[in-house]
Amino acid sequence: MRYLILSDIHANQTAFEAVLKAADGRWEKCICLGDIVGYGPDPNESTERVRALEPVAVVRGNHDKACAGVTDASDFNPVARFAATWTHEQLTPDNLSYLRELPIGPARVEDFQIVHGSVIDEDQYVFRPVEARTSLERAEVWLTFFGHTHFQGGFVLRANGKIDMVRLSLPAGPASAKLPLAKNIKYMINPGSIGQPRDGDPRAGFAFYDDDKRVLEYIRVPYDIAATQERMKQAGLPKPLGDRLALGR
Ligand code: ZN
Repeated sequence: MRYLILSDIHANQTAFEAVLKAADGRWEKCICLGDIVGYGPDPNESTERVRALEPVAVVRGNHDKACAGVTDASDFNPVARFAATWTHEQLTPDNLSYLRELPIGPARVEDFQIVHGSVIDEDQYVFRPVEARTSLERAEVWLTFFGHTHFQGGFVLRANGKIDMVRLSLPAGPASAKLPLAKNIKYMINPGSIGQPRDGDPRAGFAFYDDDKRVLEYIRVPYDIAATQERMKQAGLPKPLGDRLALGR
């Protein structure tokens, strides 16, 4: 089975459409790791697009919770909180209830699982091996997909107990990197963020996973960042949220 792994779309429909175009014909089942909305100008479009893809598994992100009113966004910075309130006001009742009812991770798919933050806490950021270790050791399955950090890559727990980071440096333009997955090793894999990358690469990030070949493929695709920034401006969303899209930080 070929899976399309989506994460942190953040209501950036221009980036999301570029990803779906690049992925066209290359996947059979879709998985979504949360943060469908928040920050970006297209909350209804992105929510409806995800729903139309009929993901076999989806978990909620902290922004989905805040924008749907499940949490009050009091732990968000002022810019993120402003965007969450704006998003809440834009969402149709139908999309609001879809987001409100998104399940908490982990969610199991075949022999792997998906989470938004970490295996132990849906809101935990896993940036470093020390944070990854707890999740990897607690994981009951060999492969976990996670998002939340907006960093494409992940972590590998070797048989000797050592944790390695998956580091990527993809060439310009549409680019991909394959990672064959070994047996008897545990992985935490982040496909990257579609709508607001923070790993220094402004291109939309996502991944494919082929469970027959046991191969993961990381992808980056350029998109029209200026078009998203213009819609954010028209919507009155805070300027720093648009500026950071061009930086990928
Ligand atoms: Zn996010």
